[in-house]
Amino acid sequence: MTDTPRYADDTISIHTGYETEPTSKAVATPIYQTVAYEFDNAQHGADLFNLAVPGNIYSRIMNPTVDVLEQRVAALEHGVGALAVSAGSAAINYAVLNLAEVGDNIVSLPQLYGGTYTLFAHMLPKQGIEVRFAEDDSPEAVEKLIDSKTKAVFMETIGNPAGNIADIAAISAVARKHGVATIADNTVATPILLKPIDHGIDIVVHSLTKYMGGHGTSLGGVIVDSGQFPWADHAERYPQFSQPEASYHGVVYTEAMGPAAYIGRARTVPLRNTGACLSPMNAFMLLQGIETLPLRMERHCSNALAVAEYLSGHDAVDWVSFAGLPGDKFHGLAEKYMHGRASSILTFGVKSGFDGGVKFYDALKLFKRLVNIGDAKSLSCHPASTTHRQLTESELAQAGVTPEMIRLSVGIEHIDDIIADLDQALAAAR
Ligand SMILES: *Cc1c(COP(=O)(O)O)cnc(C)c1O
Repeated sequence: MTDTPRYADDTISIHTGYETEPTSKAVATPIYQTVAYEFDNAQHGADLFNLAVPGNIYSRIMNPTVDVLEQRVAALEHGVGALAVSAGSAAINYAVLNLAEVGDNIVSLPQLYGGTYTLFAHMLPKQGIEVRFAEDDSPEAVEKLIDSKTKAVFMETIGNPAGNIADIAAISAVARKHGVATIADNTVATPILLKPIDHGIDIVVHSLTKYMGGHGTSLGGVIVDSGQFPWADHAERYPQFSQPEASYHGVVYTEAMGPAAYIGRARTVPLRNTGACLSPMNAFMLLQGIETLPLRMERHCSNALAVAEYLSGHDAVDWVSFAGLPGDKFHGLAEKYMHGRASSILTFGVKSGFDGGVKFYDALKLFKRLVNIGDAKSLSCHPASTTHRQLTESELAQAGVTPEMIRLSVGIEHIDDIIADLDQALAAAR
């Protein structure tokens, strides 16, 4: 679609990355359920391996159905290229491992998705990558921790579960000043509400499992490259992009791939050698979901705001945290980056404490009790007993999780049915 105009998100979500396949004339994206692709001859095979011609080799590295998804998400995020993988967790792991190795460090904002926190606090350090958690979300707190071994600054645009919003433009400006690349997890906001690359972020990661797929059927993750980080200007910090790569017969990524050097290396080094690839079937399911992402996000946002207003006015509720509410401490950042919208994750606490929280949770009928977010269905979670269960009390506090806290992921059902379910569950919590 290179000669077509730049479409709006609603159109990109439905079309970008796929043109009617010339042999079969299939209008829906075909599921290319194949492991390998035939070479025309020895020279063709050699050219493919040398990255000299575009084309497919083996589905661990690339697949035509997955490619459609990658193009579509890259277009939605204003990136130059994307790499889809088996889960959001794999996307985060590869995004970091493509930049940092033993002896290096990354700096992270403190409030994170539980799985990311565990990766950063416990797994990466054992592989020799130090993770420095900033004491708060401020650019100053991040800057203090940057040194010559810092390879990335990591943040969630909207934090899961705390709903905190990062001042991504201010943080990316500080990182860029020191020649350090930024990675933003945009899972909760989705590119419909926020495009981090437009605010200076270098690399965007997603769990496609959540709002992007939107139906709770398929795991997936993606890394998007902005193409904006000048790797060659910072060759001392990032030799892997502008010097010959030993694990790929000496290719120099900035020469072979230009602005897509980062994502090209992510595909041919971490993914090629460790294999957390996305299945063609899951890519197809995720593409089906993305077709309606802009519509669904509208309804998610309006339903969540209505729920937050209802809970705020209820006398059994102690507190509500939702950046879409004008009084919320993150509302200013929601205004700055998302026209005041804040996706559909919100947290609250009942006045009757931990026990009341459990009673409320058990009384829910429409809301599903589970650990997932971003489904068309309304979902609920008690983080202290599930996602954040393995954290110590001080780690819990740092992650912004309190014992009575309930997290809701407000779905796209009719708002009256959603409120009625909350109403009867709150009555049970008294
Ligand atoms: C769920 C989630 C992840 C992990 O994604 P998976 O697809 O479950 O591996 C990462 N970041 C955020 C913000 C998430 O909500």
